[in-house]
Amino acid sequence: MIFDVLTLFPEMIESYCGFSIMKRAIDAGIVTINAINPRDFTLNKHKKVDDTPYGGGAGMVLMPQPYVDAYESIKQYDNTVTVMLSPQGEPLNDHIVNDLAKYNQMILLCGHYEGFDERIREIIKPREISLGDFVLTGGELPALCLIDAVSRKLEGTLGKIESADEDSFSNGLLEYPHYTKPREYRGLKVPEVLLNGNHKDINAFRLEKSLERTKAKRPDLYNKWLENR
Ligand code: SAM
Repeated sequence: MIFDVLTLFPEMIESYCGFSIMKRAIDAGIVTINAINPRDFTLNKHKKVDDTPYGGGAGMVLMPQPYVDAYESIKQYDNTVTVMLSPQGEPLNDHIVNDLAKYNQMILLCGHYEGFDERIREIIKPREISLGDFVLTGGELPALCLIDAVSRKLEGTLGKIESADEDSFSNGLLEYPHYTKPREYRGLKVPEVLLNGNHKDINAFRLEKSLERTKAKRPDLYNKWLENR
């Protein structure tokens, strides 16, 4: 999958993608990340990308020309989706991540300062996605969250060891608790059932715990699971 990220701070994107599982996915050719800086597309002498808002008010607004030109410079393949990171978008969840993982190319628009001139939305018509009901200083962190979440759904990104099949949300529930060595730590013991090698019992225990913690932590998910059963 190709991710083309429009950002005034390409180093933020490149830096995160230079480590761990993202780096491995890039090295393996599963994902390609291109960071494109709208500042390189400005037509003014000072490479200015923002200006004061018409009508007054605090903050600087991102001007349409550098963003639209940078967007139009990207070679689009078939099966492409364009996403604007915005607190006004659909709140991101696992269903949206699964849906976005079906595309071959994702173009991500990261805002900054007061956000985008409205005409950027009108011309590009992106799908708007939010990380939640709070406001960050820029779209780079949400873009990276999206890239990371989508990348781990692509075949080959996770080794068997990191399989996503049983992660929270994959079956509509929160995942069961995990334990590793030692068997006892500060008087707390690993549940006996996990030590006996009986996979039927282990699966039953995990489902029970998964239901228990979903009901306690996320009754909304639990009720949905009950409805869809
Ligand atoms: N003035 C905008 C508003 O109130 O809707 C907020 C602009 S925010 C300070 C600057 C940029 O950060 C946004 O254009 C967007 O790209 C990004 N951003 C901030 N919060 C976000 C969130 N919750 N989800 C996704 N992107 C966000």
